[in-house]
Amino acid sequence: MTSNRSTLPLLPGATLGVLGGGQLGKMFVHCAQRMGYKTAVLDPDPQSPAGLVSHFHLMKDFSDENALQDFARLCDGVTTEFENVPAQTMEWLSNRVSVNPSAFAVSIAQDRISEKQHFVNCGVPVAPYTVIQSQADVRKTDLALLPGLLKTARLGYDGKGQIKVQNLQDLETAWDHLSGYTKHPMPCVLEKLLPLDFECSVILGRNRSGQIVHLPPQRNIHRDGILALTQVHEGCFPVSVKNQVIEYAQSIAQKLDYVGVLCVEFFVLKDPTNHLSPYSLVVNEIAPRPHNSGHYSVESCDVSQFELQIRCLTNMPLTTPRQHSPAVMLNLLGDLWQASSVERDALAIEEPNWASILKIPGAHLNLYGKAEPRLSRKMGHITFNGSSVSEIYGSLNQATHILGITPFVSP
Ligand code: ADP
Ligand code: MG
Repeated sequence: MTSNRSTLPLLPGATLGVLGGGQLGKMFVHCAQRMGYKTAVLDPDPQSPAGLVSHFHLMKDFSDENALQDFARLCDGVTTEFENVPAQTMEWLSNRVSVNPSAFAVSIAQDRISEKQHFVNCGVPVAPYTVIQSQADVRKTDLALLPGLLKTARLGYDGKGQIKVQNLQDLETAWDHLSGYTKHPMPCVLEKLLPLDFECSVILGRNRSGQIVHLPPQRNIHRDGILALTQVHEGCFPVSVKNQVIEYAQSIAQKLDYVGVLCVEFFVLKDPTNHLSPYSLVVNEIAPRPHNSGHYSVESCDVSQFELQIRCLTNMPLTTPRQHSPAVMLNLLGDLWQASSVERDALAIEEPNWASILKIPGAHLNLYGKAEPRLSRKMGHITFNGSSVSEIYGSLNQATHILGITPFVSP
């Protein structure tokens, strides 16, 4: 199932390729270069954040066979920074160059239906759900799944491609909308809306010989379906939940024979019927790559999620990443640039006050270099670390005040 060609390590000096040129690719490129590797990015956008900082940037489409030929010749190892890269592209490359994660693992993560089936096969609990592929499926929906969330099986991200539905009538309207009103509708899943106590995720790295290491699991706060804040420090969540999260994530990776960095997202529910623990867990989704919730590791761990990705790709030794300071990570969305409204309701684009942010102790500003600050678009993040939990929340509160973001409280 894995598509790895050689078990020899790729030493510094080798060229590491990444499919996709977004911020995750940019952070991969920076980390690979720090470690002495050359980098190559495949992304059609000439202004892509990763492409702009890489040794090589092929500005071609992911299905352009000539470009893939060149990319395979250029690279000693290839990974991906987004899950929607066509599985055929990864399959094609893996016949010519060492690629991980495998096309198979990425194809599972691309589709909520196969992803959920995989979780069920692993014995990991999921939210109650059903697959909806037609009007007839809508009509025979089990009412126990309502209220729920209708989600497209593919291509959803940051809360896009999903609609909350209260009743059957809502579901019909949402289905018409998401399926695209076509003869070949986009398959969807309807998930029961769960009363989440909180959300969390864990990032692990697994190598070709099956060794797994993980970052400390993190607690995540979403606003409008988009990750807003990640918290990683003492007292974030109960040890029993932490252990269960790690165990489930490991079994999900093992059953995929996964090689590379994997993020697994969970919902945590209060469970008064459980006598052993007041909490129960369901897995939400996986990302076959580093994840927004793992960005804190760059400034707060001795091995970041990107270094882990490189160690997995190059078949170099894995060591368990150790967190050296408590951290919170605040996402910066394009909304922060849309300042005051001016004539005729047009919005003025105004840069947030970075000088004030950089006055805050322990604030690490990361901006991705995206040209256009659209609403809801991830433009950057700030990691706050320090010597105590109260110190990092003090810094976070200063930043939310400066940026006009609704404040957060420590768990
Ligand atoms: P995306 O691919 O956009 O991240 P998710 O399925 O992770 O999609 O949903 C985004 C967010 O919406 C979740 O992090 C959670 O806050 C909320 N959400 C999703 N599914 C449910 C559910 N079944 N019950 C309650 N909240 C949910
Ligand atoms: Mg998600």
